[in-house]
Amino acid sequence: MSSSRPSPLVFPDVTLPESALLLRTEVRAFLDEEHARGTVLGRPDSWLAGWDDGFSRRLAGRGWVGMALPTEYGGAGRGFLERYVVIEELLAAGAPVSAHWVSDRQAGPSVLQHGSEEQRRFFLPRIAAGQCFFSIGMSEKSSGSDLASVAARAERTAGGWRLTGTKMWTGGAHVNDYAIVLARTDETGDRHAGLSQFIVDLRAPGVRIEPIRLMSGEHRFNALHLEGVDVPDGMLLGRQGDGWKQVTGELAFERSGPERYLTTFPLLVSLLRELGQRAATAEQLRQVGILTARLHSVRRLSLGVAAALDAGASPDIQAALVKDLGTRLEGALVDTVRSILPTPADPHATPGTHSELLAFALLHSPGYTLRGGTNEILRGIITRGLEQH
Ligand SMILES: Cc1cc2nc3c(=O)[nH]c(=O)nc-3n(C[C@H](O)[C@H](O)[C@H](O)COP(=O)(O)OP(=O)(O)OC[C@H]3O[C@@H](n4cnc5c(N)ncnc54)[C@H](O)[C@@H]3O)c2cc1C
Repeated sequence: MSSSRPSPLVFPDVTLPESALLLRTEVRAFLDEEHARGTVLGRPDSWLAGWDDGFSRRLAGRGWVGMALPTEYGGAGRGFLERYVVIEELLAAGAPVSAHWVSDRQAGPSVLQHGSEEQRRFFLPRIAAGQCFFSIGMSEKSSGSDLASVAARAERTAGGWRLTGTKMWTGGAHVNDYAIVLARTDETGDRHAGLSQFIVDLRAPGVRIEPIRLMSGEHRFNALHLEGVDVPDGMLLGRQGDGWKQVTGELAFERSGPERYLTTFPLLVSLLRELGQRAATAEQLRQVGILTARLHSVRRLSLGVAAALDAGASPDIQAALVKDLGTRLEGALVDTVRSILPTPADPHATPGTHSELLAFALLHSPGYTLRGGTNEILRGIITRGLEQH
């Protein structure tokens, strides 16, 4: 029997506006300047591992951080597709964008959508100026995939709330300014309805940050211990009890962007440089062609989600599909590069050489299909979406 409802897997065909094409040229020129400064190292996973607040501020100076925020709050009032082009260029170049990444992608839009007027006036101009960096405080030790089971608690106090619990994998908590923390405000009834979000100052008394090191030894993540942290009423984000709805709304932003398929793109660029220095075989070229075609397809889907977000839709199922396809492609790209150009992966090789970039991509690759929701969970979302249709 045919359904009259639109399929959840419709991806609008997107033609980038002229303004976006112009922006691309401007961003490339900016990146050339940054290359000359030595700040752009062409690294994979630069949105997670490339923390450079100076770079973020210079980017903000061009109006390219918080660029989709309204001008009355210090943003550039540009569309999602224009933002898309900017971040696509930054990621493809392996630019160090992790300082402002979460503020730009998630915290800014969340504060705009759910925040009080006071919160908007305080945070949004700072985000757009590259002066205020956020972390995501969702996951806990036993609450990653099953996020609704979070145990962090917020208890009422005279002027606000006292937060207790431990968030895990909190990227950048040791260098950022605030975290948006999901905590339980009501122990009774529906477990989804008892959750709320709070903006927590990461330097507040009672916040203890403990490093969790990656396989490579790098410090990017933390256990964020909240040991009776007092959060004023004004830092409740949105309405009490709406935390679940707000968090799931954020996920369409979190899951569909170019960072879900371009994480390892700089390694492809490095491969092409290497192949350019020798006579590439037909098989090597064929494999490069396959990777490029796959990247092109996922990009088209991801652009479709950006266009849907631009139109005010909530394309959660499409976003889950893009993240599943894209993050698998990120890993496949590393495997293909290794197999068609056998090179020792050496983390101690000269920075920026193919060996060093390969080691970097390999050591980071286990996280690609986990962070932001594992691929098994995403497939569950896609399947349920299709069943409902
Ligand atoms: C690099 C990296 C960065 C991260 N950054 C942050 C951050 O900044 N802030 C933050 O809050 N979190 C962050 N996370 C946490 C991330 O969101 C969780 O790791 C993820 O949601 C999975 O949760 P988990 O690790 O608890 O695994 P679990 O939920 O314990 O899952 C373990 C395995 O079981 C599978 N599984 C679980 N439930 C089901 C099910 N119902 N059906 C089928 N399979 C299932 C999973 O797919 C997975 O393979 C980060 C994680 C990584 C790896």
